[in-house]
Amino acid sequence: MISFRLLEQVPSKCEEGLGLALASDDDGAVMVFHWCNRPFLQVMGFEEADVIGHRATIFVSPDMDQSTHLLTIDKLMRWEHFSVKVQLSKKNGVPIWVTMTWTPLTDPENGSRWWLCSLIEFQPNCGKTSKVQDLSGEAAPSHLLGEYKEKVAHLESENRRLRSIAKAVTRDSNEDPLTGLSNRRHFEANVSVWTSALRNGGASFAILYIDLDRFKAINDTLGHEAGDGLLVAVASMLKRITSDSDLVARLGGDEFVIVRPLGESALEISGLADEIMQEMSKPFEYGGKSVSCSASVGLAIADANTKIPEEVVGDADTALYHAKSTGRGRWSFFTAEMHAQSVATRHLAAELLVACEQDEFVPYFQPLVDASTGQISGVEVLVRWPHPTRGLLPPTDFLDVAAKMGILAEIDAILFSRLGEAVKYLDNAQIELSRFAINVSAGRLSDTTLLHDIKVSGIDPKRLTVEILESVYLEPVHGATNWTIEELRELGVEIAVDDFGTGHASVQGLLQINPDVLKIDRQFVQPAAASQRARALIESLIGIGKSLGLKVVAEGVETEAQAQLARDLGCDILQGFHFGKPMTAPELLKVLNETSGWLWRSTSKFQQSELSLDNLL
Ligand code: C2E
Ligand code: CA
Ligand code: CA
Repeated sequence: MISFRLLEQVPSKCEEGLGLALASDDDGAVMVFHWCNRPFLQVMGFEEADVIGHRATIFVSPDMDQSTHLLTIDKLMRWEHFSVKVQLSKKNGVPIWVTMTWTPLTDPENGSRWWLCSLIEFQPNCGKTSKVQDLSGEAAPSHLLGEYKEKVAHLESENRRLRSIAKAVTRDSNEDPLTGLSNRRHFEANVSVWTSALRNGGASFAILYIDLDRFKAINDTLGHEAGDGLLVAVASMLKRITSDSDLVARLGGDEFVIVRPLGESALEISGLADEIMQEMSKPFEYGGKSVSCSASVGLAIADANTKIPEEVVGDADTALYHAKSTGRGRWSFFTAEMHAQSVATRHLAAELLVACEQDEFVPYFQPLVDASTGQISGVEVLVRWPHPTRGLLPPTDFLDVAAKMGILAEIDAILFSRLGEAVKYLDNAQIELSRFAINVSAGRLSDTTLLHDIKVSGIDPKRLTVEILESVYLEPVHGATNWTIEELRELGVEIAVDDFGTGHASVQGLLQINPDVLKIDRQFVQPAAASQRARALIESLIGIGKSLGLKVVAEGVETEAQAQLARDLGCDILQGFHFGKPMTAPELLKVLNETSGWLWRSTSKFQQSELSLDNLL
């Protein structure tokens, strides 16, 4: 019995040059080399990079006999096992004679079709005409060659015609019509061939995921034609800097991808990423204007160590996300850390689904304080997740993933039903809370389940404020969002703009939404007590709110000095750890009963005189 480990040594120890090429299912002449042994390289004077990822055209040289070439193509197209004695050129141009044998193979595991190509060098002793042999090893009689040549020439031309018809049909389904690159479908089909080949010992490959930075802004400011022009220019640049064995595709929008067979080292791959950065740093000319648009690139490699090669595209996307979030205009390699992160994200996603099923989310409450009286005027409702093993999680630990999974509406629905119970419970306190401010993410404004949740919660809509992130107004507000906001207003719900100042919304955008409340982000509130410049900034933000007749809330008030300053500059409501951290409903009930809702006893003279006036009245 011959052991597998003994057999395994055969390809590296035998003196015959052996190469394996993965062929296209519908045309045996279309193939890519994925593996070869050392003698294969030695015979031809090739480096591995000259072979892996390349087609059988690596053997074609100007002095190759034309009829042999045609015959070879014919045999390959028909998946026939054949041998040919042929003169080839080594990489350095030195001519050699080889017996080249092509054997078709089918992978029993996945049905993929392969060619085993064997090369044996020999010294010709007579005649220079190449000979094609059938399996018996006999040379084709030379008098038949002329006839054969004619037949093959006819076959070739017929084939070319059929192929051009077939190509025109498949081009549409494989090609991106704007740039002429491969489309997503073609890219995915190719990657799946490459990954299944890799599983079977085939060549490793790299994915470069490319995304233009701020493409949307160019499209919006210069128009779609300029946007299309830029995409076409990027496509032709990518084609120019890549080679024939690379696959370049546009996945849609401003996303491009390159698949490169890895005969070369990772270093050369990063060289390609560098080149893309460099090319993108050159301005692009459109309609007499010069436009600059950088790109970010994510890189990932699938090689023999990759456990699940199918994930390589997702890995490159993760690396791209990393490149974007660390400042755009740069590239990132997919790392072990990112891998750990993406595993953790997947794990979190699975846990979130369970959490949704078991209604695990709970509302916490943070007091909102009336700046002029120090009395609690309402609470902001903030979601918390009592995680089965990791303790109480703040929203920043899970909302992003939940948003990507599209389950924010589920979480909100759970929160709303819990909130309904909590409001009934808190109404037992000595003083009634007049307002509950809830956070609503942008996406939820264009779906009607929000209104449904509010209606079934049993909470009087006039006691609700909906806080919307400022970034919502960056985009022109469309029909559905507008409609929801109008409906909310109709129900008596107050509208607040959250984190004002961070999203660079325009005043015009604000006017369009016409909110009742402006919440100034804590990044402006906190430094204002210590720095003149920060103070000037917050003054102008408050000024915008006041000039529009809005109630202004200062967020993140942590010290007495910040509280007094915010009030003195005109904020109507204060919120922050200085008055209370987010807490559970029972904790809040206790605070309300113990303080009668009087959460701030200011020491400022202004406040004291106001209070004494109040007392007198
Ligand atoms: P936000 O709406 O700006 O909420 C205020 C955040 O600031 C809360 O963080 C709160 O705990 C924190 N905070 C309040 N006062 C202070 C302070 O004095 N100092 C400091 N350092 N922080 C303070 P939290 O609860 O972690 O919430 C983070 C964000 O998550 C919220 O920011 C909001 O955008 C989002 N969020 C919270 N609950 C929900 C929810 O139910 N639905 C949605 N869609 N988003 C939510
Ligand atoms: Ca908020
Ligand atoms: Ca906020």
